[in-house]
Amino acid sequence: MLHPEPAQKAWNPDAIRSDFPLIAGLSGYGRITYLDNAASAQKPRSVMDSMTDGAFTRYANVHRGAHRLSGLATASYEGARARLQAFLNAPGAEQVIFTKSATEAINLVASAFAAIVAPGDEIIVSSLDHHANLVPWHMLRERRGIVLRWVDPDAFGNLDPAAFADAITHRTRLVAVTHMSNVFGVLTPLEAIVRLAHERGVPVLADGTQAVVHHAIDVSALDVDFYALTGHKLYGPTGIGALYAKPGWLERMSPMLGGGEMVATVGRNHVEYAPAPHKFEAGTPPILEAIGLVAALDYIESVGRSSIAAHEAALGRHARARFAAIPGITVFGDTEKPGPILTFASASAHANDIAAILDGKGICVRAGAHCTQPLHQMLGFSSTCRASFAMYSTLAEVDALADAVDEALTILK
Ligand SMILES: *Cc1c(COP(=O)(O)O)cnc(C)c1O
Repeated sequence: MLHPEPAQKAWNPDAIRSDFPLIAGLSGYGRITYLDNAASAQKPRSVMDSMTDGAFTRYANVHRGAHRLSGLATASYEGARARLQAFLNAPGAEQVIFTKSATEAINLVASAFAAIVAPGDEIIVSSLDHHANLVPWHMLRERRGIVLRWVDPDAFGNLDPAAFADAITHRTRLVAVTHMSNVFGVLTPLEAIVRLAHERGVPVLADGTQAVVHHAIDVSALDVDFYALTGHKLYGPTGIGALYAKPGWLERMSPMLGGGEMVATVGRNHVEYAPAPHKFEAGTPPILEAIGLVAALDYIESVGRSSIAAHEAALGRHARARFAAIPGITVFGDTEKPGPILTFASASAHANDIAAILDGKGICVRAGAHCTQPLHQMLGFSSTCRASFAMYSTLAEVDALADAVDEALTILK
């Protein structure tokens, strides 16, 4: 059962846009069409206000001093953990570890797996994945002599769960796969992958960085072993991310970072760690960022996740229809599953040049390989353009994008 959404406002794009000062045009740069949300989303005013409020009313270091401010700060930090637990439907708050990013969350698991794997063991990765869910496993390959086995998507970016089952051997120690590609914007069949992997005794780590932005996530129903996410793509602050780990794992894992607040006792020749989640949160954690993240989750739920998903699907459909009429453009992904991300390229114009022309019109898109070089090697383009939509994006912005790309191709011909 998912955490029920609170009463929702009627869908009101103007009200949403006015909650995001940069989107509402208060940046001082004039009108900006911000379509780089898959790299980082803009923040509503309530996120920044809540952080200021936290700093000015209940700020001190957490879990330390015996004074009242530290107690208040600790309560709001641990309250944020419980809020994220509910958002993900995790079984316990202690299963949620705050990190600085999704990247750090995945590295935390990889670092613990260094002690779990033996040379010759295998980890299954997908060529759909972001470097954040590839390079940590490459590092285990380099340092521990494990073998990476790769599962490829089809030409439309779809992963076949059976391919993961086929890749599993008696040496497989983990499947690491994204829940939503940051290039195609569609969900992967994570539930089926988890089921097939578990039937063969193999745990699954999912990179939920993009999926959690656009869909309601229930880690208990997914039955996934690890789920990583980042705050700044969820309309929250930078400097905070999280790792969910299924009960049982955290006790077996050694911490990545050592320091204050993660220990029970420290002697000269022995150290005893605190229980999870604290064992994995050495040093001063992102205290104000946790407060901001709560405000971001509150904001998302007040707008309503199903309304956001329906709006973004409409943007995706419209974008694909418009781009289908632009000569010389290749749009990647499955037209049957229009997601909130549109990646495109042209054989006759470099992605950087297209993006520069769009930027001249105030349209922000990303150009490059989007931290997915193995996928781009498969697509046959070293560089593509990516437009990614958010709850505040509009059909008029999609039209402006399509018109500008059409014009850019004429100029660059
Ligand atoms: C952005 C992204 C990441 C990394 O997020 P950070 O906040 O930079 O750690 C990981 N995976 C995917 C799919 C992403 O889009």
